[in-house]
Amino acid sequence: MFINGEWREMTDTFAVYNPATGEEIGRVGNGRSSQANEAIQAAHTALASWSQTTAYQRSEVLYRAYQLMLERKKALAELMTREQGKPLKASTFEVQYGADFLLWFAEETKRIYGETIPSARADQRFIVAHQPVGVVGAITPWNYPISMITRKVAPALAAGCTIVLKPAEATPLCAIAIFEILEEAGVPAGVANLVTALDPAPIGHAFCTNPLVKKITFTGSTAVGKKLAQDAAPQLKRMSLELGGHAPFIVFDDADPVHAAKGASLVKFLNTGQACISPNRIFVHRAIMEPFLKTFSQRVSRMVAGNGMNAEVAIGPLVNEAAIEKVDEQVRDAVALGATLHNGGIRLTEGALVDGYFYAPTLLSGVTPAMRIYREETFGPVAAIIPFDDEDDILALANDTHYGLAAYVYTQNLSKAVRTFEGLNFGIIGINDINPTSAAAPFGGMKESGLGREGAREGIMEYLETKLGGFVV
Ligand code: ADP
Repeated sequence: MFINGEWREMTDTFAVYNPATGEEIGRVGNGRSSQANEAIQAAHTALASWSQTTAYQRSEVLYRAYQLMLERKKALAELMTREQGKPLKASTFEVQYGADFLLWFAEETKRIYGETIPSARADQRFIVAHQPVGVVGAITPWNYPISMITRKVAPALAAGCTIVLKPAEATPLCAIAIFEILEEAGVPAGVANLVTALDPAPIGHAFCTNPLVKKITFTGSTAVGKKLAQDAAPQLKRMSLELGGHAPFIVFDDADPVHAAKGASLVKFLNTGQACISPNRIFVHRAIMEPFLKTFSQRVSRMVAGNGMNAEVAIGPLVNEAAIEKVDEQVRDAVALGATLHNGGIRLTEGALVDGYFYAPTLLSGVTPAMRIYREETFGPVAAIIPFDDEDDILALANDTHYGLAAYVYTQNLSKAVRTFEGLNFGIIGINDINPTSAAAPFGGMKESGLGREGAREGIMEYLETKLGGFVV
């Protein structure tokens, strides 16, 4: 734990495991609410001076952290693969993506512009300024264990806020590595604090109820996001929530089915399907279903599951036993209700896979609304293909979910692309694009996928208050 600029050794610790091998790879301090409150107090004390630094001073610190991350790219990526399981190449991409947020907000801090507004009264002036919200409580998930941290810490610090982070209990080692970088980059004591914990609930509760915390930023499940919002409601704290998704992936009949199937299989199995923007319902026009399925199935059959340290591996482990069970239940439910299983559908336990949480990349077609996978987030390597005939219905079908994070569309028809982009109730829409993410682009969802946006110009506004000055002269 890193509190008030000091690394704390704890006698109470918990183990961190490699999900590919089951082996213990480290132990970290098991924080409780007392440590959370101590860190909040440290962040509150540090706020007085950090909020008064110039944007240029904050930029320099963030830029140094960016450089350190790039210098340590290989070591950070290897740590991520051991702790989280994704293939080394994907880990390397994520370290770069994580570093991008430090660079982006090192620049955005210099552009916290205000404005003057003309008044209807000759003797009045309006001036609008932005000021840091204050102490931030941040909670991050295990699936993107580095980039989800920098996506919160970088804009918070850039805005002049101080922060206490609680990373996911499955991936605290990546968080520690990032905080070592922040310390080396010159982040002053108390400005960024890290509290690791096996039981997240008391830490979350401290963030929600300690009046020194002015803002909560959370990435994780919709269920936990709602709990935090309820817990923080009596104090009406500012909330940014990046929650679950159930992305539709629509392939119109004018799209190239082979190209679309390549795209769909790439994005579906990214991080073994453990991504909030993973396609959960792949709607394919019946006229091109056959070539689409053929290409998709061929690609799935070539995917190798295993330890992400091996270069040929595309499918890493799932996070834990419960994830395997959930995925398997969704597959069995779909097959029982009439879906066709083309690939996978089983847990993998042969050879070196025996001690990890591996599930075969799975392709189901003929998925219908009666099946659980049609509504529930899968968070695993299962592609669910749904045929459609009538283009007029597709927007209603795609929008028929409580979630509203990401959606994907394949078409060569410009007006269809525009109409679909405008009609989909999702925050992030890829049109012939399976990777519509960047530190420069706003990330976030509608409906029960969350509140607020991360990255981009919007990302820093989440950590700023707007203050109006009316002056009579
Ligand atoms: P996932 O299903 O992706 O693990 P969670 O929402 O359970 O999603 O976890 C995301 C983050 O939320 C993790 O850091 C986890 O420790 C934290 N978390 C889980 N439950 C709670 C809770 N009751 N209060 C605060 N944080 C929580």
